[in-house]
Amino acid sequence: MNLPPRPPLRVFYSPAYVVESGLETVTKARYLARLLEDGEGGDVVVSAPQWATREELLAVHSGNYVRDILSGRGGPLACGPWSKELLGSVLASTGGMRDATLEALREGRSGSLSSGLHHARRGAGTGFCAVNGLALAALVALGQVDAVGILDLDAHFGGGTAQILRGHPGVRLADVSVRQFDRWKPRPGEPHFVERVTEPGRYLEAVRRSTEALEGVGLLIYNAGMDVHEHAGGLRGITTGHICERERWVADWARSRGIPLVFALAGGYQWGGLSLEGIARLHLETVRAIA
Ligand SMILES: [Zn+2]
Repeated sequence: MNLPPRPPLRVFYSPAYVVESGLETVTKARYLARLLEDGEGGDVVVSAPQWATREELLAVHSGNYVRDILSGRGGPLACGPWSKELLGSVLASTGGMRDATLEALREGRSGSLSSGLHHARRGAGTGFCAVNGLALAALVALGQVDAVGILDLDAHFGGGTAQILRGHPGVRLADVSVRQFDRWKPRPGEPHFVERVTEPGRYLEAVRRSTEALEGVGLLIYNAGMDVHEHAGGLRGITTGHICERERWVADWARSRGIPLVFALAGGYQWGGLSLEGIARLHLETVRAIA
């Protein structure tokens, strides 16, 4: 029996995401977009998102912080010195998460080439993350589904997402990291899963176990960090082979359950030795697995 062809994977990106600076968070998407334009991601359509609005930021962040973000009066943003260009990058890549979430709920899968999300707290940015687009995506989806799961496989914990969403009855969090930064602990009775992995041989098993906390959700939001890779800032012994297997497994997990999936790029850093193009090629594995 032949399965019907799937529609192309729609991915959200615009050149406004990119601010030329030394920081991977606001530069690497350009490299991945170029690979997608060259057809390396498979059957993928790239669309520009609508920028996030002030009202959307206020759904996730405090009034004082939103005023600081928009005006620049609060000083630098977590992802660089405040400028209109950097604000545009934050609003475009946050809007990309909203548009990708709505696309995933309609078509079953989507993503945004957004980074700099999961450390941002209600009242402040931190760790290169100015606005928590994962939290916004969850709140957007909860208008349409009863439960949302956030699978955070960045090398660092998503303490910002936890601070904003952990008490929401419709949200379940699964957070597997290889570093201590931004660690948080579920309280007794909370449905969330948090684990730090220190041995590369146990990484994929921990990823598989973490998704048990997400069974039955109406949308999977996947923060697909590449900074777990040994040459992208992560744990020695976590290789491209681990990344490819992880991405296939996550994509299959959602697809086999009929759960819509939306992804973001999350971390991946040159200090591990890879170039920006090399990091973009790791992120390409997420796109390929989901396409
Ligand atoms: Zn990270």
